[in-house]
Amino acid sequence: MTQTFHTVGIGAGPANLSLAAMYDTLAPHDIALFEARDRPGWHDGMLHSGVRMQTGWVKDLVSLYDPTHPLSFLNYLVTTGRVYALLGAGFDTIPRIEYQQYLVWAAGQLPRITYGTRVDRVEFDGAIVSRSGGAALARSRHLVLGSGTVAFVPDFLDALDPRHLFVADELHRRLATVPDEPDLPWIVIGSGQTSAECVAALLARGCRDIKWIGRRSWFAPLEDSPSANDLYRPAYQEAFLTLSRDVRERLVSGQILTSDGISPGTLRGVYQHNYEERLRTGRFPVTIMPSRTVTGARQLDGEVELECLTAGSGEERHRAVNLVVAAGRRQAPLPFDPELTALLDLDERGEPIIESDYSIRWKHADDHKIFVLNRGRYVQGLVDSNLSILPIRSAMILNSIAGRTVCRFRDDYLSTRWA
Ligand SMILES: Cc1cc2nc3c(=O)[nH]c(=O)nc-3n(C[C@H](O)[C@H](O)[C@H](O)COP(=O)(O)OP(=O)(O)OC[C@H]3O[C@@H](n4cnc5c(N)ncnc54)[C@H](O)[C@@H]3O)c2cc1C
Repeated sequence: MTQTFHTVGIGAGPANLSLAAMYDTLAPHDIALFEARDRPGWHDGMLHSGVRMQTGWVKDLVSLYDPTHPLSFLNYLVTTGRVYALLGAGFDTIPRIEYQQYLVWAAGQLPRITYGTRVDRVEFDGAIVSRSGGAALARSRHLVLGSGTVAFVPDFLDALDPRHLFVADELHRRLATVPDEPDLPWIVIGSGQTSAECVAALLARGCRDIKWIGRRSWFAPLEDSPSANDLYRPAYQEAFLTLSRDVRERLVSGQILTSDGISPGTLRGVYQHNYEERLRTGRFPVTIMPSRTVTGARQLDGEVELECLTAGSGEERHRAVNLVVAAGRRQAPLPFDPELTALLDLDERGEPIIESDYSIRWKHADDHKIFVLNRGRYVQGLVDSNLSILPIRSAMILNSIAGRTVCRFRDDYLSTRWA
């Protein structure tokens, strides 16, 4: 018989893990998560040696709401015996693999996570029914979509031989199968942190003919100043939610480098390696090529050729044997069946309308909330697409489900007045 839960969560990434960790406040063990991956993990394809978090470790699943919670990062460090070693190592920001291992540890303590199960259809028959491969997995009163993002691969890259096309998420795994030929030419496309990490990974492999092509006019660093961090506070989110959609869109595009810029340490690593190799070998292994939009691609005999439009409206062609795509991410598709979709209020882009409590507007929203996470950067602000205040988002959702304040949080000590 299909089990019934108070809430079902699709995906067991940090967003839904945080919610599941805090769910006991509302209804102990009455949330079930379904996860497509066959085991716990977190962006496992992007764990190149040396990669670091872009946020501090206090931004864990629970601490900013409840630092005494057993699934805090500090408790993970202490109970796994690594706290002194980590502190002693003196990291400015922790290795990404540490946060991944923390998430695996936390997931292991949460009951009712089913792995290897992709929810491919959600229906409504008086309850919300989540299905996979034709079978009903669970019925629930509420649903939380925490399905995250997937790598964006432009259509024109379909023309390329897949043996020479590496989506950034797969590079770590597939690099091991590439012949060890340092002079093999590579192109990496992308302007963000992921592209920089791919360039660094190729350098670490000994590659010395890499073109790094990006659309931005420079490979811009992450803006991580105190004033930038103001944007990742609950108090800012509260102010942001009062603004009109147009204003929010304008603000988000102006704030993008507080979220999508490259960590200065990663940039320094690439530039310093490049400089040192020039001293050693007489040539730069990485050619840094900003201000270029890739518009087309074709497969030649043994080579990939890219067409680019430059900022000055010129056209260029660049060739390499292998191409790495790190061209950003898109939201994972929504698995609603057509009858359920017909009950949703959609905006002019055909997207569900997201309310300030992360729920979407639909016919039965009074009794059955459907929340969408990591899809509302123009509603809740950029904070929705990263880890900064995960537990506050979980608290807001729990309050919304309860219809009253069951999770109270504070953000006082404000010296900034937003307008
Ligand atoms: C490489 C990388 C590093 C990042 N580092 C940072 C950082 O340091 N700091 C920061 O603040 N942000 C960071 N981010 C941004 C963001 O915080 C992360 O992407 C974060 O993982 C988002 O959490 P999520 O739970 O919303 O989505 P995800 O982590 O993407 O998790 C979604 C999960 O849902 C599963 N899923 C998808 N569809 C289905 C389905 N239909 N059925 C079942 N399961 C499904 C997926 O398998 C996945 O496990 C990073 C992003 C990337 C890509």
